[in-house]
Amino acid sequence: MMDREEMHTLLIVDDTPDNIKILMETLKDEYKIVSATNGARALEVAASKEHRPDLILLDIIMPGIDGYEVCRQLKENDNTRNIPVIFVTAVSEVMDETKGFRLGAVDYITKPFHPPIVKARVQAHINLKVKTDMLEQLASLDGLTNIPNRRKLDEMIVQEFKRARRYQYPLSVILMDVDQFKQYNDNYGHAIGDTCLKKVVKALQKCLNRPYDFIARYGGEEFVVILSDADSKGAETVGLAMKQAVEDLNIIHEFSPVSDRVTISLGAATIYPKTECESPMEIVMAADKMMYKAKEMGRNQLVAVDFKDV
Ligand code: GH3
Ligand code: MG
Ligand code: MG
Repeated sequence: MMDREEMHTLLIVDDTPDNIKILMETLKDEYKIVSATNGARALEVAASKEHRPDLILLDIIMPGIDGYEVCRQLKENDNTRNIPVIFVTAVSEVMDETKGFRLGAVDYITKPFHPPIVKARVQAHINLKVKTDMLEQLASLDGLTNIPNRRKLDEMIVQEFKRARRYQYPLSVILMDVDQFKQYNDNYGHAIGDTCLKKVVKALQKCLNRPYDFIARYGGEEFVVILSDADSKGAETVGLAMKQAVEDLNIIHEFSPVSDRVTISLGAATIYPKTECESPMEIVMAADKMMYKAKEMGRNQLVAVDFKDV
C-alpha cells in the first residue's frame, strides 16, 4: 500500500451508495477516495480546497443535477476545469456516448464493473493528469527565478480582473524594473546579474503576504505584481516596501548613477469597481506608464496612481 500522503484523490459520484462502495473497494488501496451521492454535492467537493480531486468518476443518471450537467459545470469553472472526468454508466442504459466527450469527459466505464479494467483506466488517466500538471507548471514558470512567467501573468490578470469586477473590489497592479541593470551586467558579468535577479525576486516575494497576491517575471529585469482588493494606498504600501526590500539587500552597484546599491523603479495603477476599463491589460499598461515616470523622475522611486488619472 502507498503512503497516504502520496496518494491521488478520486471523487466518486453516484446516487446509489452500493455503486460507490464497489468502486471504493476496487480503488481504495491506491487512492484517497471522497464521494458524493448527488450532483450539487459533487460540484461542491470538486471545487473545495481540502478535497480537490485529481479525477472524478461520475454517474450519468442521477436525480436532480445529472452527470452531464455536473460535467458541464465542472468544465465551466476555472478551479475544476482541469480535473479529468470519467463517466460511469450502465451498459443497459440507452445513451449518447459522444455527448459526454463533447462535454469534456476523458473516458467511460460501464456497469457492472470489472475491477481490473476500472483500475487500469483510472491509473492511465491519473498518469496523464500528473504529466499534464507537470507540463502546465513548467510552462508557466520562469526558469531563472522560479516565479510565474509572462504567460501565467496573462492568464492571472484576466482571472483577477473578472474576480475584482464580480466581487466589486479594487484591483492594483505594480510594475517594476531594476535600475541601470545593463551597467550592472556589463561590469559584473551576466552570471552575477542572474544571481542579483534571483535575490531581488526573493526580496520582492517577502513583501507579499496575502494568499491572492501574485508576482511574475514580466521580461528581462522587469516584474509585475497583482494585488486584488488593494486600493492605491495599499499598492503604495506594498510598492514602497518592495523598493525598501531591494535597497536593504545591499547589492553593491558602483556603476549606477542613482545609488551605490541595486535599486528598482516602480509604477502602480489601481481600478475601482466603477472605473471604466475595457481590458485588464490596460491596467498593466497604465502601471508601465507610471514606471517610466518613476524612471524619468530619477529612478529608485514609486509612482502610484488611480487608473482613471493616467
Ligand atoms: P533603466 O534604469 O532605464 O531600467 O536601465 P537598464 O540598464 O536597467 O535598462 P536596459 O533595458 O537598457 O537594460 C536591461 C538589461 O537587463 C539588459 C540586459 O543586460 C539585462 N538583462 C535582462 N534580462 C537578464 C537576465 O535574465 N539575466 C541577466 N544577467 N541580465 C538580464
Ligand atoms: Mg532596467
Ligand atoms: Mg527594462
